[in-house]
Amino acid sequence: MTVAGSGLGGGGDAANVSRTPCAGGGPHSKPGNASKNGRSCHHDRGAGRRPSQRALPAETLWLSRRSGDHTDGKLPYLAAKLTNGASANGEVSKNGKAGVNGGRRSDASIVKGWRYINKDGFTREPLKIAIAGGGAAGICLGIKLLEAQKDGRLGDIDVTIYERDQDYGGTWHANRYPGCRCDIPSHVYQFAFAPYADWPQFYSSSRDINKYMHVVAQKFGVEPLIKCNRTIISAIYSEETAKWTVEVETKGSGVETVEVDIYVPATGVLSQVNRPNIPGLDDFPKDRVLHTAEWPANLDYQTAFKDENVAVVGIGSSGLQTIGAIAPFAKSVSIFARSKFWISPPMLTEPAGTREWKGGNFYYSEAEKEEFATDENALYKHGSALSAATMHLFDVFFRDSAEQENMKATVRELMRADLREPELIAQLVPEWSHTYIAVALDSRFDLWCRRVTPCVPFMEAIHLPTVSLLMNPIEKVLKKAIVTKNGQQHEIDRIILATGFDTSFKPKYPLRGRKGVELGDVWKVRPKAYMSLAVAGFPNMFIMCGPGTVFANGSLLAGIEANAKYIVDVIAKMQSQDIKSMEICQENQDEYNRQQDSLMADLVFTSNCSSWYKSGRPDAPPDALFAGSTLQFMELLASPRWEDWKYERRHENKYSFLGKGTSSVRRYGYGRRVSTEEIVDPTSSIADSQIEGKGGDRAFYLTKEMHRNPLKLSDYREPTNGAIPINI
Ligand SMILES: Cc1cc2nc3c(=O)[nH]c(=O)nc-3n(C[C@H](O)[C@H](O)[C@H](O)COP(=O)(O)OP(=O)(O)OC[C@H]3O[C@@H](n4cnc5c(N)ncnc54)[C@H](O)[C@@H]3O)c2cc1C
Repeated sequence: MTVAGSGLGGGGDAANVSRTPCAGGGPHSKPGNASKNGRSCHHDRGAGRRPSQRALPAETLWLSRRSGDHTDGKLPYLAAKLTNGASANGEVSKNGKAGVNGGRRSDASIVKGWRYINKDGFTREPLKIAIAGGGAAGICLGIKLLEAQKDGRLGDIDVTIYERDQDYGGTWHANRYPGCRCDIPSHVYQFAFAPYADWPQFYSSSRDINKYMHVVAQKFGVEPLIKCNRTIISAIYSEETAKWTVEVETKGSGVETVEVDIYVPATGVLSQVNRPNIPGLDDFPKDRVLHTAEWPANLDYQTAFKDENVAVVGIGSSGLQTIGAIAPFAKSVSIFARSKFWISPPMLTEPAGTREWKGGNFYYSEAEKEEFATDENALYKHGSALSAATMHLFDVFFRDSAEQENMKATVRELMRADLREPELIAQLVPEWSHTYIAVALDSRFDLWCRRVTPCVPFMEAIHLPTVSLLMNPIEKVLKKAIVTKNGQQHEIDRIILATGFDTSFKPKYPLRGRKGVELGDVWKVRPKAYMSLAVAGFPNMFIMCGPGTVFANGSLLAGIEANAKYIVDVIAKMQSQDIKSMEICQENQDEYNRQQDSLMADLVFTSNCSSWYKSGRPDAPPDALFAGSTLQFMELLASPRWEDWKYERRHENKYSFLGKGTSSVRRYGYGRRVSTEEIVDPTSSIADSQIEGKGGDRAFYLTKEMHRNPLKLSDYREPTNGAIPINI
C-alpha cells in the first residue's frame, strides 16, 4: 500500500509497510503488494503505524517529514520535538539546535523528512535466549552462539540451556543400556568443528559419545550455560511484547519464570520414553521392569541376569543392541517382536583400511590415537574418507532404483547367511511387509525404510540355545509370565522394554504461539515445520532437530551444525537489524512441505514398514525426515531464504539499524578473527582509539593469504580481446 507524496519511501517509508505480510516474494505475489519502485516490501511490519496515528517513543528511528513536505501541513510529533532542540535520540544538543553529536548535525541530515537515529550502526539489542535441552543440539547451538559473539556477529546475549536430566549429553547420557552404540563411525559422528583424536572404537559406545559431548562442552566453554535438573514446563508467546514466558521447574525446589526474546526447543525426538499399553504390565513387579532409555547406572548386566528369564519387548535398534549384549549373560532371553527389520554387517568399513574386526567393531591402537592427536593430516584423512563414504548414502534411498534393489538383495543375502535357520530367515528377513494393511496397499519393505542397524552381536546371540524369538503379539502380562495371542505362556523374571520413544513431536508441556495456539494442536495430524526449524504462528521460536530433519541418512550431527548455524544467522539478523520478531510465513512453510512430500513419495521411507520416522504407523507419512541428502540439507540451511519470513520491526524505519553510519567494528570488533582471548565487551561502546587494542580490526577484510602472492607488473600480458596494449 503506497500513500501518495510519501517522499523517498524506499525502505524507510512506513507508508509502504505492507498490511498483508507474507503475501508475496514468491509465486503468490500480487501486483498491489509492490512498492512504487517495483520491489515488493511486504515482508516487514513496522513496530507501529504511521507516526500521526500514535505518540512515538523518544528514541524512535522514524523521523517524520518536515512540515513543509507534509501533505496535511501538520508538524508531526517528533519533528516538533526536534525543532525544539532535541537530538534524534531525544537528547537536547549543546547549542540548543536539533542534531546529533552535540549539534553537529545540520538540516542536510534530514532527507525528505527522514533522519537517522544517533546510535552506532548495527547496534545489537541485548537478547535473552532460552534453549530447552542439553543434548547434542543444545550444546552445539550454545557453542555456535558463543562463537558468533566472539567473532563480533552477535552482541550482548544471555543464553541458558535448561536440561531436564541431572547431566547433559541427551541421548548419550540417557541411553546406558548394554550394547548401546552409534551406527555411524565415530569419526563421522562428531562435530566438524571438534574432531576427536581419542575415539576408542570404530563404532562408539553411548558412554564414549557422552564423554565426547562433555569434552566438547567444556573445551568450547558452553558447560557454564547448562543448568541441569531444570525442566521446561510451559512456554507462552506474547504478541504484545514479542517475548516468550518460560516456566522452568527445578527438581525439588519449585518453578521459576523467565521472560526471553528467543525460545529454542532442542528437546530431541528420541527423548520421551514410550511405555507400551499392555494389559497387566502395571501388575508386574515394578523393580523388574526396565526401559532401555532408563537403564540404572549401577546395573551390571554381566551378573544381574544370570539366574533370570529375561523378556525383551521390541526389536528396533535398542532391542537388537540390548539382546546382543545381554544374551550371553542371561539364563534365557525371550524376544517379543512384531516387525521384521534390516540388519547389516558393519557399514562404511572400506576407508578404515585393514583392521582386526571383532563383533563388527575394532579398537584404534594407542599409536594411532597418538598419531591422530599430533598429525592433523592423519586425522583429517581418516575422518574425511569416512565422512565422504557416509555422504554417499542417498541414491540408494530412491524406491525402485538400481542402487536400492542391488543393496537390498545384498543385505538380504547377508542376513540369510547369518541367520542360517529357515525359520529365522522366514521370521526376520524383510521380503515384504508382514502387516495386513501393508500387503493390501503396498507390499514393499524397502531397505532403510526403517534405520538399518549394523549389529553383529545380535546375529551371534540369536543362535544361542538360551535365546528364543517369539513373533506373536503379546496378549497380556501376568505376575511371572507373558501370554502371547496364540495362547502360549512364557515364564519371565524380568521385562526389558525396548519400545523406543514417543516420536509424535508433540511437546509434553503447553507450548503456545500467537493467539494462544498450542503447538501440540497444530501438530495433531502431522508435525510439519519449515526446514525443520520454524513453525508459522510461533514467532521468535527456532527449533533444533524439529520434524523434517536428517535423521535417516548418516550422522545427525552434520544436520545439527547446519541447524545451529541457521539459528545463529537468524539471531544475528534480528539483533543487528532492529527486528522485534521473525516468523515463518504459513504459505512458504506449506509450499516447502509440498515439495518435501512430493519427493518423499519416491523415497524408501514411504514404503510400508513401521518405523519411528512415522510414529510407528506403517501407513503414516515419514514426517520426521528431510526429503533429500544430508549434503543438501547443509547447503539449504547455509543460505537462509530471508524472503520466506515476515518481520516485525522495533522501529518504523526498517533501516534504523544503520544509525549514524558506523560499522560494527567499533563496538563489537566485527571481523575479528575468532579467538578465545580478549572479547570486546558488547555492552559498551569503544573509543575510536581503542578499537584495535580491544581486538577490533578495521582492516579485517584483508588477510595474510591475500598478500602471499601479490600482483607484479611483470604479470602484464598483451590483451587478447583487441583492446589497445598499454605502454609499459
Ligand atoms: C538409542 C539411540 C541410538 C541412536 N543412534 C544414532 C546414530 O547411530 N546416529 C545418529 O545420527 N543418531 C542416532 N540417534 C539419534 C540421536 O538422538 C541424535 O543423534 C542426537 O543425539 C540428538 O540430539 P538432540 O540434542 O536433538 O536430542 P537429545 O539427545 O534427545 O537431547 C534432548 C535433551 O532435551 C532434554 N529435554 C527434553 N524435554 C525437556 C524439557 N521439557 N525441559 C528441559 N529439557 C528437556 C532431554 O532430557 C535431553 O537431554 C540415536 C538415538 C538413540 C535414542
